[in-house]
Amino acid sequence: MPELTFKNLSKSFGSHVVIDAFNATIEDGEFLVLLGPSGCGKSTLLRMIAGLSEITSGELLFDGDRANDWHPRQRGVAFVFQSYALYPHMTVRANIAFPLVMDAFKKWYHLPIVNAVARRRLMKSPDIAARTENIARQLELDSLLDRRPASLSGGQRQRVALARALVRNPSLYLLDEPLSNLDAKLRTQMRSEISALHHKVGKTFVYVTHDQVEAMTMATRIIVMNKGEVQQIDTPEGIYNNPANTFVARFVGAPPMNLVPVTRKGRRLATSNAQAWNHDGELPDGERLIFGVRPEKLQFLAWGQGRMPAQVAVVERLGAETVIGCRLVSDEHGGTTNLVENDLVFVRISGNPRTKINEQCSLDYHAEDVVWFDAHTQTRIPVRAAAPALV
Ligand code: ADP
Ligand code: MG
Repeated sequence: MPELTFKNLSKSFGSHVVIDAFNATIEDGEFLVLLGPSGCGKSTLLRMIAGLSEITSGELLFDGDRANDWHPRQRGVAFVFQSYALYPHMTVRANIAFPLVMDAFKKWYHLPIVNAVARRRLMKSPDIAARTENIARQLELDSLLDRRPASLSGGQRQRVALARALVRNPSLYLLDEPLSNLDAKLRTQMRSEISALHHKVGKTFVYVTHDQVEAMTMATRIIVMNKGEVQQIDTPEGIYNNPANTFVARFVGAPPMNLVPVTRKGRRLATSNAQAWNHDGELPDGERLIFGVRPEKLQFLAWGQGRMPAQVAVVERLGAETVIGCRLVSDEHGGTTNLVENDLVFVRISGNPRTKINEQCSLDYHAEDVVWFDAHTQTRIPVRAAAPALV
C-alpha cells in the first residue's frame, strides 16, 4: 500500500508541456481525486503512476523509492479505464478471472492452443474461483457470473470491468473517469459502491474525473488541476469553502461560486454599474477585489430589504430547492437599467417560492460567508474571521 510522492514531475510530448512540475504526496489509504477540465493532464498523470507513460523529468516515489523506471507489473496497480472493453465471447466469470488466469500462465502466451486448454483448467482452480466469486459478491455480480456481457446493462458491465481490475488484489487503485459512460442514476449508485469498496479494502485510490460532484462526494482529498498545473490540494470542504483562486471557485459547486468584481472605497463596495453598498465585516487591503459568495449563502429578499438591489432573470425549480439567477441592478436607475455585464448572481433557496422572472428583489449576505480574491492575480486573499458589524 504505497504512499506516492511526486517531485517536480513533468511530462512533455515533444515541445508540448502537459504536466509542469507537479508536486504532491498521496498518502497510504487515501481516496485522492484528481479533478480538472478535459485536457488538463489527468490521464497522463495516472498513466505515469501506472508506468504506462514515460516520465519526462522529476521523480515519482513509491514509499520513498524512486519508481520512475519500474515496470508496470512491479507497481501492483489496478487500472480501470473510462472505455472498458470486456471479452464478448466470455462469461462474466471468465472476464473477471482473466487477469488471474493470465498471471498464472504467462509463459504459455505464445502457444495459443496450450494457452486455451490451460486457461480452461485454471478457471476451475479453487483459488481463482474463490477470488473471482469474492470480488463478484462485493460488486453484487454473483448472480450474473454465467451471463455474457451482451446480456448485461451498462452499469453491470461497468461493474464487471471494475471487478476484473480489482480481482488481482492490487495495492494501488487507479481509476480514470470510470463512470463517465453511465447515466445519471447509475453514476450515483456506482459512486457509493466505489466509496464502499474503498472502505472495505482500505487501500490507496487515485481517481480521475472532470465531475466535481464525484470529487466532492468520494474524495478524502482533491487535487484540482488546470492546464497541467496544480491549483489546490485540500479536503472537499477546504476546496469548497476556501478555494485557492477563482478557477477553483468556479470549477467546484453547481451553480458555482458567485464572483463579483468590486472596487473598494473605505467600507463601500462598488460594482461596475455604480451599485454600491456598505460591507459590515473585515475587508482585505487593496482597491480592486473580487467578492465571492456561494449561492446558498446569499439571502433572497424583497426589493429594498437587502443591500444589493437585483432583478430575477432565471428561476430553476428543482423540487426541494430553487435556484434563482439575478442581475445586480443600480438603484440609481430605478433598478431596471445598467445591468452588471451579463453575469448572473445565483441564489439557492430551499422550497419552491412564487418568484417570477423580471421581479425586483434584493440580495444580502453575512460578512463571514464572503471569500475575497485579488482582481489582478485571481488568488484568494485570506481575511481574518469577520468581527460583528461596527455601526
Ligand atoms: P485529461 O485526462 O485531463 O483530459 P490528458 O492527460 O488525456 O488530459 O491530456 C492532456 C494533454 O496531453 C492534452 O492536450 C492531450 O492532447 C495531450 N496528450 C495526451 N496524450 C498524448 C500523446 N500520446 N501525444 C501527444 N499529446 C498527448
Ligand atoms: Mg482523461
